[in-house]
Amino acid sequence: MEKIKMTTPLVEMDGDEMTRVLWKMIKDELILPFVELKTEYYDLGLLHRNETKDQVTVEAANATRRLGVAVKCATITPNKQRMVEYPQLTEMWKSPNGTIRSILDGTVFRTPICIDTIHPVVKNWKKPITIARHAYGDVYKSVDLYTTEPGSATLTFVGESGEKKELLVQKVDGPAVWQAAHNKEKSIRSFARSCFQYAIDTKQDLWFSTKDTIAKIYDGEFKKVFEEEFEHYRAKFEELGITYFYTLIDDAVARVIRSEGGFIWACKNYDGDVMSDMVSTAFGSLAMMTSVLVSPDGTTEYEAAHGTVTKHYYRHLRGEETSTNPMATIFAWTGALRKRGQLDGLTELEQFADKLEQACFTTLNQGTMTKDLVGLVDEGVQAHAVTSAAFLAAVRGNLEASL
Ligand code: NAD
Repeated sequence: MEKIKMTTPLVEMDGDEMTRVLWKMIKDELILPFVELKTEYYDLGLLHRNETKDQVTVEAANATRRLGVAVKCATITPNKQRMVEYPQLTEMWKSPNGTIRSILDGTVFRTPICIDTIHPVVKNWKKPITIARHAYGDVYKSVDLYTTEPGSATLTFVGESGEKKELLVQKVDGPAVWQAAHNKEKSIRSFARSCFQYAIDTKQDLWFSTKDTIAKIYDGEFKKVFEEEFEHYRAKFEELGITYFYTLIDDAVARVIRSEGGFIWACKNYDGDVMSDMVSTAFGSLAMMTSVLVSPDGTTEYEAAHGTVTKHYYRHLRGEETSTNPMATIFAWTGALRKRGQLDGLTELEQFADKLEQACFTTLNQGTMTKDLVGLVDEGVQAHAVTSAAFLAAVRGNLEASL
């Protein structure tokens, strides 16, 4: 069989630990035998980031801006414990995802991979719900203060022109806590554009929620910017038959629970943090969650939402075969290949991505799955746990049968 050709390379970002092991297995078993894969390879493994003083992360992000589509493996974000584990680290390097996100000015969209035999905790959810989290500002870049005596606090803005704006926050008669947060109009606008763009790309309705009845100026600005930006996308939305829907966060929560899914829910930073954990838990497993970073100009980077699965990696190092779930990492690859196919007009590549995903679903429906999923499937379903290697071999068998 002739391999499927590509024209533009994908940006490939390799990573760490168990997901790095899976990365190679997925490529060898499911992609390289079928696709004449073209990638620009960047090794974002922790030690290589250290050797390059993290320049490799910046280069990978710049390559993504240039080429338009990237696929990324999970990576270690070093913390104090990792500094002990890897004594050769010269610095506690920043999160690669944070660096890439700020260079691409992107928004992260997280979507569960749903299968027939695993039912979400919320019975009426039939289709995936994608959470788009605004990843800048609010409480995450706020300052807070504890005071002990009676007094008052004011909020002061001093413009470069010398203009001054001052507001009394509160006068208190005893110990108190204080917080000041901000967001930038530019960041809110980029968030809005990424959301509208992704809704168009995936042909799904877009919901957005804030609390603008209480935070009239702050959340009101989010609502206003979304309304303004929507005007640039309205015609395309109408053509595709999709809608933009704004509501208050509390109303959104109630509607989401009663819905059957199948839409994108754009959330402010904190809401997105909380709601994405709720949605992913209710849908089943972090190992079945994909993540896409989309910038306002449509540049996309695909990855799994989970981390490097450290515990499994240490078992792997001891020579044990692990049953690590490769689904989200496979779907990162299919997402990136499909997008490349769409941009370059390569129907065969797009179809390959569809068939590979289908082969994964067929394998799971046959009851062949990794250990983490066996406990989640409906009662009565015959399911058996296999190693990652056996799972990938079964997917390959189903893929070959469909090609
Ligand atoms: P993790 O996602 O690796 O693991 C969390 C839990 O989920 C573990 O109990 C693990 O066994 C289970 N799990 C996750 N993915 C699984 C899979 N595919 N199959 C089976 N079980 C799975 O998160 P963590 O343990 O908090 O972090 C490990 C490392 O990953 C850290 O160094 C962290 O910095 C990094 N991390 C990276 C990313 C990323 O690159 N996107 C995201 C999160 C964490």
